Amino acid sequence: MTSKSAAAAARATVYGYPRQGQNRELKKAVEGYWKGRVSAAELRQTASELRATTWRRLADAGIDEVPTGDFSYYDHVLDTTMMVGAIPARHRAEVEADALDGYFAMARGTQDVTPLEMTKWFDTNYHYLVPELGPDTIFIADSAKPVAELKEALALGLTARPVLVGPVTYLLLAKPAPGVAADFEPLTLLDRLLPVYAEVLADLRSAGASWVQLDEPALVQDRTPADLNAAARAYRELGALTDRPKLLVASYFDRLGEAMPVLAKAPVDGLALDFTGPAAANLDNLAAVGGLHGKRLVAGVVDGRNVWINDLEKSLSTLATLLGLADRVDVAASCSLLHVPLDATAERAIDPQIARWLAFAGQKTAEIVALARGLSQGTDTIAAELAANRADLASRADSALAHDPAVRARTAVITDADSRRSQPYAVRAAAQRSHLRLPPLPTTTIGSFPQTTDLRTARADLRAGLIDTVAYEQRIEAEIREVISFQEKTGIDVLVHGEPERNDMVQYFAEQLTGYLATQHGWVQSYGTRYVRPPILAGDISRPEPMTVRWTRYAQSLTNRPVKGMLTGPVTMLAWSFVRDDQPLADTARQVALALRGEVNDLEAAGTSVIQVDEPALRETLPLRAADHSAYLAWATEAFRLTTSGVRPNTQIHTHMCYAEFGDIVAAIDDLDADVISLEAARSHLQVARELAEAGYPREVGPGVYDIHSPRVPSAVEATALLRKGLQAIPAERLWVNPDCGLKTRGWPEVRASLEHLVTAARDVRSTLPDNES
Ligand code: GLN
Ligand code: ZN
Repeated sequence: MTSKSAAAAARATVYGYPRQGQNRELKKAVEGYWKGRVSAAELRQTASELRATTWRRLADAGIDEVPTGDFSYYDHVLDTTMMVGAIPARHRAEVEADALDGYFAMARGTQDVTPLEMTKWFDTNYHYLVPELGPDTIFIADSAKPVAELKEALALGLTARPVLVGPVTYLLLAKPAPGVAADFEPLTLLDRLLPVYAEVLADLRSAGASWVQLDEPALVQDRTPADLNAAARAYRELGALTDRPKLLVASYFDRLGEAMPVLAKAPVDGLALDFTGPAAANLDNLAAVGGLHGKRLVAGVVDGRNVWINDLEKSLSTLATLLGLADRVDVAASCSLLHVPLDATAERAIDPQIARWLAFAGQKTAEIVALARGLSQGTDTIAAELAANRADLASRADSALAHDPAVRARTAVITDADSRRSQPYAVRAAAQRSHLRLPPLPTTTIGSFPQTTDLRTARADLRAGLIDTVAYEQRIEAEIREVISFQEKTGIDVLVHGEPERNDMVQYFAEQLTGYLATQHGWVQSYGTRYVRPPILAGDISRPEPMTVRWTRYAQSLTNRPVKGMLTGPVTMLAWSFVRDDQPLADTARQVALALRGEVNDLEAAGTSVIQVDEPALRETLPLRAADHSAYLAWATEAFRLTTSGVRPNTQIHTHMCYAEFGDIVAAIDDLDADVISLEAARSHLQVARELAEAGYPREVGPGVYDIHSPRVPSAVEATALLRKGLQAIPAERLWVNPDCGLKTRGWPEVRASLEHLVTAARDVRSTLPDNES
């Protein structure tokens, strides 16, 4: 039991909350504004109502200090770019003409200007807009948004704490603007940026802020001594300001490590630290610097990135330890609640047994409040919450819904041999060559063909009961016929069925696997107005019946050319879902891999000679700290091999990854032991091919020659040139010709033309090869 006096002032707080509103009102308002159906005034009104609703909900739940400024029309990093006035030259006219339209132009581009680049926010599935900076960047403070939002919250009579992206993280997330040397380091702009932060802090103080939170998640990554020096300087200078609110420097997603002494020594007033997952090491990091005496510690003990209830007793014990390491300990989620859905009680279709184990933003808020009360007033004041929590946790620990003895028995007997193919790559390659009889430079696609409105309507109609399964399946078969006949006519060598039956590459499989849960309202922001509903890995995973065989077999029945089977790999199935927190990720991955292995084997038995297992998430799930990479890559590559190693040597396994920067995981890609890999490369001009060749990658490679992220149709001449470049790195017998990702987001006319050009290019280059076999 915690003592009453030591933590009398423990407060409950959060760093941010889902922005969209109960019914995704924000999405509707913003998209309505883009379409001209909602005026700017109406959009502002909706936004301010959503903010007020969130603050009231937080305050009513017992949150002592609400965050402000975390709200965004699109993205909080873009908001920071506006706040520091780092508007790229190409967007300036638009911003000057109208700040709101200019803001959206930076986010989405216009007819005339390209948007800012978008990339993942650390290892989450949220995407931010990358600041573009250069030696000529001039920062100008614009505190209007943070000040206005603070005032709104204060006007409601609440204690509010503005939350800003910190200056060091802002610069570390930036990239050189177009035209600026690639080796330009945005962090060199720190001295120019700090006065702008000083001004914003002063404005917030005069608007009534007593505390301001500066988020520095970039400090949980491996940082150079120069980066750490910059962080030390930044907080020495901001701390030395006389006209400033109290500063709370927040970090999350991992441990601070070598940045801990830097921040612990800085003349700021408090630190907010994550104590969940790999960040639990912050406890030792903190003890190693002798604690935070004289500072406030905000302890993120409730996991802000997952959907499971907290173990309140365990958190209380962490908090009790922390009381010995800081003068004042407050309670929070590990990071902004932006990354979880709003309210688990909205999920009426989830088994009530399982619903007890779920905590979305609303439930996490209640946990934080209970923990803060337990900490300051004694655990007997939350006896009821503790008892309920204990019962819920116990019901999960021994639930038959989460534990399937048959699955456990299967995973228990997995041996290393199960994740190894029976023959080495070289032997398989020869067997596949004589089995498949493909020309050199074979052409293929990555899997999906355009997901037309018509297909989406058919799916919606099926769900709404407007058409029956038979009619829906006829519609899908008709689409497959069209896709197959187009590919045959165009002369593609390895065909696909086009994935018309899939709503999403993870959801489609999650819906068919036992142990996975779907939500009805569990929306989470992916970027801008795009929200996804990640499925939840809730129990042991099994595959009641084949998931894709029917469609692949149908497609194969229409053609003599090989049709490639198409599955989502185990790592991606985990990465784009909420994962279990009651067993190691490696165990969950192994279960998913075994289920997928059954599918791979069934595809082979149904006559499929080429099977692709997509792993676009392999690189992005890499832990933030290099020290954790090898443990992750070990289970990730093992899960992939377990999925794919049950087939004959002459069955060709493909994989696909959609990113270009994988220099640091080439060895892991080799470890997958796939026969063929297709990669995104159109934008990096085959640099990928060179990198693989330099690393001695021995297998077949399809670096994309058609950039599907753009509506542009590459000409045959262009594709030919890229192919020739590819041939400089990879010999013809190992080089494939393909687009760099699936075609589902593209329109038919561009796809038709682009693939025709791609085949023309492959034929042209083939005809110039020394021993032309085609
Ligand atoms: N097979 C998937 C498709 O073509 C791959 C998509 C992806 O890697 N993101 O759509
Ligand atoms: Zn891709």
